[in-house]
Amino acid sequence: MVFGNIFYLYPLIITVAKVIDLSKYTKELSKLILSSENILLICHINPDGDAIGSQLALYHYLRSKSKNVKLMVPNHLQEFLKWMDGADQINVFIKERKKCRKLIAEADLIIMFDFNQSNRLGEAEESVKLSRATKVIIDHHLDPVSFADLIISEPSKCSTSELVYELVSEMNGAQFINRSYAESLYVGIVTDTGNFEYGSYTSRTFRIVAELLDTGLEKEKILNMIYNNFSSDRMKLEGYVLNKRMVVLPEFNSAYIFLTKDDLKEYNHVKGDTEGFVNLPLSIKGIYFTALFIEKDNFIKLSFRSKGRFPSNEFASRYFSGGGHLNASGGEYADTLEHTIDYFLKVLKENVGRCKEKM
Ligand code: 5GP
Ligand code: MN
Repeated sequence: MVFGNIFYLYPLIITVAKVIDLSKYTKELSKLILSSENILLICHINPDGDAIGSQLALYHYLRSKSKNVKLMVPNHLQEFLKWMDGADQINVFIKERKKCRKLIAEADLIIMFDFNQSNRLGEAEESVKLSRATKVIIDHHLDPVSFADLIISEPSKCSTSELVYELVSEMNGAQFINRSYAESLYVGIVTDTGNFEYGSYTSRTFRIVAELLDTGLEKEKILNMIYNNFSSDRMKLEGYVLNKRMVVLPEFNSAYIFLTKDDLKEYNHVKGDTEGFVNLPLSIKGIYFTALFIEKDNFIKLSFRSKGRFPSNEFASRYFSGGGHLNASGGEYADTLEHTIDYFLKVLKENVGRCKEKM
């Protein structure tokens, strides 16, 4: 019987819409916004749809309030998000260091999105830490590290974008801000829930999405921009990955995928092409935990995904200096691809033995 499996020893997760008291955050946040001249919004390194979506949503809200607001990302903006209204206003720290350092220094309020550990600021970390601005974090990851003055942390939310919606609604009443605001939130919620596939959304998420759709949002256009926007090389790479680079470990109910630098070169890889690969093996019956190894210059970048209550983030932080959510996390390991995979297999084995009590 399938429930004999170790990954099913946990009680089923029932994701309910938790009612949270937002006033404890919004009173303070409103005050900070009101008293700030220059507001800077910044999200995490390698930003995903939720990082950009939540950041742009607050941008559109603050602009509607005539605030002077600037946007920044640490390193890169993915192609599939460039169409979003406001994306062309985003400053990339590693591309324009001088300008970005100035923006950071001039800000009296810095709001950070979708992360809670300062190293997720990448090369912008030091400048942000040194800045005398008041710092706010808006995030839905577990275990925030205290490097901000106000931490708005709600792990019960499926996305930072959903949290931004709640905060803005609390600060602004139920008033509709504008189309760009609704689109930004929709992108964040759709991407962070895997187009409503992961278990992280609640009935509240759907109520919010219903409101966003009622604004006349063009959901098909947006979904096409997000999901049907690949290059043919990227599609061929996916085929190659499934055929040649996926290793299924039925004895551990796990699977992993690895990609060498040469693989990526052969398929003319551009940033973002490997997005989603880590989820692929979860479609196999009986697979509840997956890892993706990507060879970089001096280290291996790892992504993890799990189903049910297997804490992939604990696994990532304990063994791969990483973190993330229960079911989606990542980390890195400074060794060769071969050694990293060996190490992964070793710790996976250890955990399968132990996780009866722990995981
Ligand atoms: P992805 O696999 O899509 O790159 O990342 C999934 C999630 O894992 C991210 O949203 C982030 O929360 C977390 N994550 C990925 N890489 C790292 C990392 O190196 N360190 C930490 N702390 N979290 C990570
Ligand atoms: Mn997120």
